[in-house]
Amino acid sequence: MNDGTSPNVLIWDVTFACPLRCSHCYTESGRRPARNLNHEEMLKVADALISFKPLQITLCGGEPLTVPRIVEVVQRFAEAGVKVLLYTSGWSLPARIVRELAPVIGKIVVSVDGATAEVHDRIRGRSGSFDHAMNALTVLEEESAQRSAAGEPPLRFGVDFVAVRSNYHQIDLMCSDIASRFPHLTSLAIGAVVPTGLASRTSYGDHDLLTDDEVKDLVDPETVSRLKAAAPPTVQVTTTDNFGVQMHPDYIAAHPDFRPLEIEPDGAVRGMPIYEGTVGNLLTDDPYELWERSRNRWRDPWVVEVIRAIRTRTDWAEAVRRIDQRFGTDEVRARIDRRPEFDPAQTSRRIPIRPVAH
Ligand code: SF4
Repeated sequence: MNDGTSPNVLIWDVTFACPLRCSHCYTESGRRPARNLNHEEMLKVADALISFKPLQITLCGGEPLTVPRIVEVVQRFAEAGVKVLLYTSGWSLPARIVRELAPVIGKIVVSVDGATAEVHDRIRGRSGSFDHAMNALTVLEEESAQRSAAGEPPLRFGVDFVAVRSNYHQIDLMCSDIASRFPHLTSLAIGAVVPTGLASRTSYGDHDLLTDDEVKDLVDPETVSRLKAAAPPTVQVTTTDNFGVQMHPDYIAAHPDFRPLEIEPDGAVRGMPIYEGTVGNLLTDDPYELWERSRNRWRDPWVVEVIRAIRTRTDWAEAVRRIDQRFGTDEVRARIDRRPEFDPAQTSRRIPIRPVAH
């Protein structure tokens, strides 16, 4: 059991490889080396994370399902009693993998950023991605139904929707149309886009970052009631402004149960989730020492001052850019400098995307 002081919100981006090119991607996946570990190294990182005795861990990326033997990594956590939440774009989710995951996974969450192919594919940067996501949800639905019919615990699966300016008009349709297509769907989480990674660009803020009024509307109890009423009663609908990951000192002080730690694919530990800058690596450093260094980053007087000055989502994006520049390595800063301007006219691609180096 977690001792109440070590990290309890663990997020491991297991790869930066991804077949999609989402305009808001927090990790710039698919546009940078994947930085995958080999299988033995992955198990070593898994064991280091298990030493924190967390109740659950989130595996995301990148696309976790591109990682060889990812099911065995999930098994490692499950055997230690750690529930795994796995986030996928649903680009490729074969029934065989779902069958293997079903007995060991806590929940599989498919990202769907539009209630129509036109909106989803534009945001996700690849033609056909909406159909792939719907196919993935169908595979999950069938597996869950089969397990229920056989008297086994149903496979839990959900949908995650990143709310941006150009899809905000579809939040009701997500509840009434998409959620009702899958009778065993357990959750639909609608979260305001976080101004990190590609979503921290000034040009992104000018066009697709949710406005402060939209964020207020998203978490308004009336909106939440309306969305819940539009979805089937079996689906848990939630909305969030994602304020917690800003790491505001007042929020941290008021929420002692929020103790996040984000891990990059190669085992490097970030000083703070969503912000660039690492404090060491789980393959070489003591996990608790890394946790201490991470918390010291949160308390860094310069960081505290920058975060305390945030008033708006636009301010938050600027704070991310400042923190990224301050704590990122030369390589990180060079990657940030190479980011293209956000193109509001971006359409989904039809051409195959070349794989990036692992
Ligand atoms: S699917 Fe996820 S990891 Fe891949 S590009 Fe989109 S946001 Fe990034």
